Amino acid sequence: MGEDTAKTRLAGVLERIETACRACGRDPAEVTLVAVSKFHDASAVAALAACGQTIFGESYIQEALPKIEAAPAGLSWHFIGHLQRNKAKLAVGRFDLIHTVDNVELAHILQKNAAAQQLTQAVCLQVNVAGEAQKSGVAPEGLDALAEVVAQCPNLRLDGLMVIPPVFDDPEGARPAFARLRELRDALASRLGRPLPTLSMGMSGDLEAAVTEGATHVRVGTDLFGPRI
Ligand SMILES: *Cc1c(COP(=O)(O)O)cnc(C)c1O
Repeated sequence: MGEDTAKTRLAGVLERIETACRACGRDPAEVTLVAVSKFHDASAVAALAACGQTIFGESYIQEALPKIEAAPAGLSWHFIGHLQRNKAKLAVGRFDLIHTVDNVELAHILQKNAAAQQLTQAVCLQVNVAGEAQKSGVAPEGLDALAEVVAQCPNLRLDGLMVIPPVFDDPEGARPAFARLRELRDALASRLGRPLPTLSMGMSGDLEAAVTEGATHVRVGTDLFGPRI
């Protein structure tokens, strides 16, 4: 990806976020753009970084770790993929936010390795809002119990919730799932008695609907890097 292309695409996505914010009375500074670089190499990351993008998201540990080494220093990396238990310890301390904690065993592995490294690992809980059989994420009914375990882990910091909604042709189709995630977050925050600021939701096709429903982190791949091969 050339730098002109990167610049144009980044400006386009930032403009969409800004327009969506303006339409619903939000401050665009409340929405963080996570540039999803999976299947794109370190040079594509460098091109976008040269345009000012600092936060990148990856879905596969074995793809991400060498890419992080090869990419410009000083970027912030987020993990947004399904985290297998046998790879979980490799994620600790490498990613500023792990968006996808969805079970107690995984939380315990992250806690143990964060303690060993004497660091605090920020995490979100991924919720399977629509109860889709094939999809990762804790069921809404299991959210409180998982959140209580994570909240008790001294080396994990629970920032909020994340969702990958069902796929729709209509970009507004995912909106009820986004609204539901916000409601679950509000209820959980009041139950835990502390704010859970992060709502990770919205991708290339539906970021406007997500912003309207309160997204703080939108995860955009295709519209920044082009199609994945
Ligand atoms: C790949 C991926 C994205 C980016 O999706 P695009 O439609 O390419 O913007 C966002 N979130 C997650 C969890 C992903 O796996």
